[in-house]
Amino acid sequence: MQPRDLSDHVAYEAGRGIEEVARELGRDPAEFVKLASNENPLGPSPAATVAIREAALDASSYPKAAHADLTAAIADRWEVENEQVWLANGGDGAIDYLSRATLEPDDEILVPDPGFAYYGMSARFHHGDVAEYALSRADDFAQTAETVLEAYDGERIVWVTSPHNPSGSTMPLEEIDRLAAETDEETLVVVDEAYGEFADVDSAIDLLEGRDGFDARDDVAVLRTFSKAFGLAGVRLGYAVVPEAWADAYARVNTPFAASELACRAGLAALEDDQHVERTVETTLESRTAMCEGIDAHVWPSEGNFVLVDVGDATAIADAMQERGVIVRDCTSFGLPGCIRITCGTAEETERAVETLNELLAEGVGESERSGEVTDT
Ligand SMILES: *Cc1c(COP(=O)(O)O)cnc(C)c1O
Repeated sequence: MQPRDLSDHVAYEAGRGIEEVARELGRDPAEFVKLASNENPLGPSPAATVAIREAALDASSYPKAAHADLTAAIADRWEVENEQVWLANGGDGAIDYLSRATLEPDDEILVPDPGFAYYGMSARFHHGDVAEYALSRADDFAQTAETVLEAYDGERIVWVTSPHNPSGSTMPLEEIDRLAAETDEETLVVVDEAYGEFADVDSAIDLLEGRDGFDARDDVAVLRTFSKAFGLAGVRLGYAVVPEAWADAYARVNTPFAASELACRAGLAALEDDQHVERTVETTLESRTAMCEGIDAHVWPSEGNFVLVDVGDATAIADAMQERGVIVRDCTSFGLPGCIRITCGTAEETERAVETLNELLAEGVGESERSGEVTDT
């Protein structure tokens, strides 16, 4: 017996964990800081950890009330109807629901390159195909309707990541509105706002609701997650906000009880804990500024909780930083072999990352690549 032909499918490459790296190098995990997966350096909201402990006693029941309560709390926060909130097992789970709800076999989606791998993986699981639009490094990964429309050819879903992973660039709402208007009626524009809390821009939920001077649209959806600003990457909780016109599709595509009792209770507590999100955003902005100002290499301006740095030879630098105890993301797998992505950390973590990177740059690690021809993506 064999699985179906998976030759077009690629495995997701996650940032590396401390345990994994320490074991491989035969070192003490305490020597490392991890700035590779855009996790929250302050940990989960303390209120959420209390909620998880309390919810443990209900772990034998299927989540029903908790699911309904969290859906209502999120709907309330964004001033949308409950049906418009599609809770899922992480933002990635919500990507699957959008694929399931829209893609027929052989339908195509359009994704940014460089970009987040899971959009394409999900489309392929659902027997769809993937086309790409280029965000140009030479143009600082600028995101406009035009950059997408140049590549657009009637795809069923167009993915916009704003703030964009791994560059940190954003697409203004006016441009997203134009993109949705100029693509076909049956094309859905999904705006992935996994890093929305860190950005100084309004949510594209304004577009589907027709707020702030925009006409309401039924072809825009928004993705959000509890993994980043809320510090709950380990519980797996995210959601899509979709137009009211087709929001009832959720009942027919969702995996029963996709968001667990523990996840829903943690999410409810975290949503209430404004203080934790504020502290997280503050810490992130300080770290972002410190890295932009302190790193002796080109750092792209970022609206996310990470920065992209032009280091020449990403693998050489990432390996050498890891050797010195700082785990960062080599962006070769994003198609950017010259760049690393560093997650914003606490003040100490940030200082250690900046110092370690600057030492290596001064020692000339990765230099031959830096001075040579830089490949554009
Ligand atoms: C982290 C991330 C997500 C969601 O991750 P989950 O942990 O599944 O919620 C979605 N999109 C982008 C671009 C991300 O970086």
